[in-house]
Amino acid sequence: MRSLVYDRLFLGGRWTEPSTDRRLPVISPHTEEQIGETPEAGPDDVDRAVVAARTAFDEGPWPRMTVADRMAVIDKLATVYAAHTDEMADLITAEMGSPRSFSRLGQAVGAVAQMHLNLATARDYPWIERRRGLFGDVQVRRAPVGVVGAIVPWNVPQFLIMPKMIPALIAGCTVVVKPAPETPIDAMWLAEMLEEVDLPEGVVSIVPGGRATGESLIRHPGVDKISFTGSSATGRHIAAVCGEQLKRVSLELGGKSAAIILDDADIDRTVSHLKMASLMNNGQACVAQTRILVSEQRHDELVAALADMMSGLHVGDPADEATDVGPLVAQRQQQRVQGFIEAGLDEGARMVLGGNDSPFDRGWYVRPTLFADATNDMRIAREEIFGPVLTVLKYSDESDAVRIANDTDYGLAGSVWTADVARGLEIAAQIRTGTYGINMYTLDTTMPFGGFKQSGIGREFGAEGLSEYVELQTTVSADPLPQP
Ligand code: NAD
Repeated sequence: MRSLVYDRLFLGGRWTEPSTDRRLPVISPHTEEQIGETPEAGPDDVDRAVVAARTAFDEGPWPRMTVADRMAVIDKLATVYAAHTDEMADLITAEMGSPRSFSRLGQAVGAVAQMHLNLATARDYPWIERRRGLFGDVQVRRAPVGVVGAIVPWNVPQFLIMPKMIPALIAGCTVVVKPAPETPIDAMWLAEMLEEVDLPEGVVSIVPGGRATGESLIRHPGVDKISFTGSSATGRHIAAVCGEQLKRVSLELGGKSAAIILDDADIDRTVSHLKMASLMNNGQACVAQTRILVSEQRHDELVAALADMMSGLHVGDPADEATDVGPLVAQRQQQRVQGFIEAGLDEGARMVLGGNDSPFDRGWYVRPTLFADATNDMRIAREEIFGPVLTVLKYSDESDAVRIANDTDYGLAGSVWTADVARGLEIAAQIRTGTYGINMYTLDTTMPFGGFKQSGIGREFGAEGLSEYVELQTTVSADPLPQP
């Protein structure tokens, strides 16, 4: 493994002495021991990154190159990255505790796949269109939005940097990436890979840090757009700051997704899919299907099958290939999730399995926990828990199931489980979420992804994801335009 200790920051494409001596220690959630550290970017470092990005955008070659030339650089990055996916997956597991199997496929391999998928999208994208307007020929051009601040959380760090940085770069933007303070090292490794692909000076910077670093970035007048993934609370604040400055902003926020089990569902198949759809990444997934809705008729059978699946989960060292559920990212998350389990008990839900005590002496583990006999007004049904905790709720009929599924501030994802796919589509059409699954829930990273309601504004992935990084410029002409 490479060194996990960094002394310099990657600003404008150059390794630079940080302006302060503040450090971000990275602690293994499994051993509770420090595994590495990076400098924390202070306001002066953020300023240097943004000034470099601004200069590169206003005067440098990157936005002036052809799309094809920029795509060639991203293609090279995908090749460099692909040679390091195993190493990257192990690093992410060490940093934040996601099980190795998930880190590999869901994070590192997924990051490379996103580069290739973005390249495929860019090939067919209408960068320059000729249209017939009211007065004659019109050119509609998609111009890069400018300097992009990309802010990501710790839960799937590389998988979330990619749908921001890659389409932004292809569009001709320059980018300042702010990783979360829990997972700065994987972003520094990415910087080392970026060094190998000869990006012009200033095009990408990495500014590790927490809230203060993020504030410097969102408030900086040199930034044209903020692309954010994280909690709805932080997203609301960022949208307000960007609103004041009329900065472009896209937000991928939290969720509290409902899986509706119809009476004709195959329970075994449903539960074997929910193992991943509800509990992936130790339950630390924005799209986790955490409210399980079932009628009286299938209730006991479903609860028994869920309990059986959850009691068979391997909880332990995330570096072990057989592990299903590793530790949570930080002690504060462990305590927060155990607090939700306590709240579920206090509010009168029935705990079928699990508990609010820690399963091991060391590591920030939480017992996989299943609640039944819950109601949708309880905190465990309303708030995003971000841990291996599932809540089963009863519905009286299908319209009641739809009502309960929609009775939430969030609108990110959801699913329906049924033998009748046409009925599944009818249910999907009544649910206010950005993505939906029938007898599965998995992200399709070629398709638009994002939230209704307080789950966000904007979309990632596919052509819609690329469109978040362009401005439309319309040019009318008194004379016929030449073909582009
Ligand atoms: P968070 O909002 O606390 O932090 C996210 C990022 O924002 C971090 O990098 C953090 O340092 C930064 N930040 C915090 N305050 C800031 C400020 N004032 N200005 C600028 N940046 C600031 O979120 P978290 O708890 O670390 O992450 C988990 C959340 O992310 C969950 O709510 C989850 O649902 C959400 N999430 C959403 C998606 C999606 O695509 N919709 C994907 C993954 C995670």
